[in-house]
Amino acid sequence: MVNGTRTPIVGGNWKMNANRARAGQLLHALRAALEGSTDVEVVVCPSTPWLGNAADAFATDDLLVGAQNVYWEREGAFTGEQNAEMLVGTASHVIVGHSERRQVFEESDDLIRHKLATVIAAGLTPILAIGELQAERVAGQTSAVLERQLLGACDGLDALPSDAVVAYEPVWAIGTGLAATPELAQEVVASIRVMVADRFGTESAANVRIQYGGSVNAENASDFASQPDIDGALVGGASLNAADFASICGAFGHAHRIARA
Ligand code: PEP
Repeated sequence: MVNGTRTPIVGGNWKMNANRARAGQLLHALRAALEGSTDVEVVVCPSTPWLGNAADAFATDDLLVGAQNVYWEREGAFTGEQNAEMLVGTASHVIVGHSERRQVFEESDDLIRHKLATVIAAGLTPILAIGELQAERVAGQTSAVLERQLLGACDGLDALPSDAVVAYEPVWAIGTGLAATPELAQEVVASIRVMVADRFGTESAANVRIQYGGSVNAENASDFASQPDIDGALVGGASLNAADFASICGAFGHAHRIARA
């Protein structure tokens, strides 16, 4: 039975895709495809140059804009970076800890901790991504890895903002077409909720929305949406197709509507 209280949240992570023309088309198509969608929050996370375009395009819609990255220093000689303050007014959400940032850009747990803190301090909503590598899963280290990433990112935080989002993204499922089974995702997401309860208390654990991410598509979304602890999805590849992305958002909205009825 799906949880009926937490509104699901679906994020579309465009990664480093779409030139200006394509971004404009996609934003337009998303507006049309998602018009009238209910019972789900939708956060579109385009590449940095198109954040303003997204904010303008969605100005009169309920669609939200998320940034894929942020730097934690307040200002200064950090060529190519943007701080959280610069995102305020344009984006409402920021992805922190994505496995591509951890691996390709060698972001450490400590850097991610700084990023999470700066996002929260700016009043933005973090989408904290955590997830184990295939080798870590095979070695039976999944829980330890997730706990290290979650607690490491939250080190020093007195409380988790009530709107905070955690994305469970097993690295072996990202961009591979090999999604976790809904049952496995549910089991791991439930265990993350317990970690949140142990660290921040039961109310935080009841409030925090935990997404699943990793090869979610229009076909499998409803299987994830029907799991009781999975409160949405972080979607990469399928977020570049407006119809597919809208269908994923619709699956989560539908599951939530049924749970509330
Ligand atoms: C992601 O980028 O967070 C992701 C889950 O990608 P994909 O949906 O393509 O696996």
